[in-house]
Amino acid sequence: MTPSSIRPVWVGTSWKMNKTLAEAATFVDELLAVPIPSGIQVFVLPPYTALASVRSRVPEDSPILLGAQNAHWAPEGSWTGEISMRMAKDAGATLIEIGHSERREHFGETDRTVARKAAAAVAYGLIPLICVGEPLAVRDEGGAEDFVRVQLQIALSELAPAEISQVLIAYEPIWAIGEHGTPATVDQVAGVMALINEVMATAGTSAKAVLYGGSVNTENAAELLSDPNTHGLFVGRAAWEASGFVELLKLCAPLARRLTVPFPGGSQ
Ligand code: PEP
Repeated sequence: MTPSSIRPVWVGTSWKMNKTLAEAATFVDELLAVPIPSGIQVFVLPPYTALASVRSRVPEDSPILLGAQNAHWAPEGSWTGEISMRMAKDAGATLIEIGHSERREHFGETDRTVARKAAAAVAYGLIPLICVGEPLAVRDEGGAEDFVRVQLQIALSELAPAEISQVLIAYEPIWAIGEHGTPATVDQVAGVMALINEVMATAGTSAKAVLYGGSVNTENAAELLSDPNTHGLFVGRAAWEASGFVELLKLCAPLARRLTVPFPGGSQ
């Protein structure tokens, strides 16, 4: 197997609406004090208020990628309260999270706006991190795979195959997210993870990586990563303290070599 065929394990966190500038600085300093284990691709999505200050604290040559939790599709203009991809990039983002279920539920994000944002992110050279996932009622009716397929097909509809290969997908079943969520088992998510990879293959490509998110913690991380279609983890609460995040990174590092699905263009 050549090095180009080895995927890193992606492990990232969104801080959601948390952390003052001082709290963000403390987290970053604690994270930077620990060597990032090899085989792990780390990313952190601070709130916009802290993005530029976190960027200036993380050395340019650090392997830690930074991103934002949302951005608008338009490059600029009269969109009160919004931030464009261009502005996010200028503030230090490499990744843009798009379509988290909290934004879909509370802020009117739709499959169409997700598609527009994904295209805008790619146009600005940013990596879209597209979140998909079904509500509990849909899962209970056996509709999880169909629901996610439609979300994904629309989300990717404005991208060419070469652009889709730049995208990260996070499967985050809504019933598994947050303090009221039920942690998922690998058996519950494996079908959807496989489906996501299949949708990519049908588009003639593969995503940069397909992540699982929703109540990930040190107890279930290894089990969730045992699924061959899962290339990383997107973590909320369990990674909001730097010590918790570092613990997860260390736990995931030995699993990196087992993720042998080739990179787009890689050989095996
Ligand atoms: C999330 O909301 O994207 C998430 C992964 O949260 P948590 O890990 O806290 O369930």
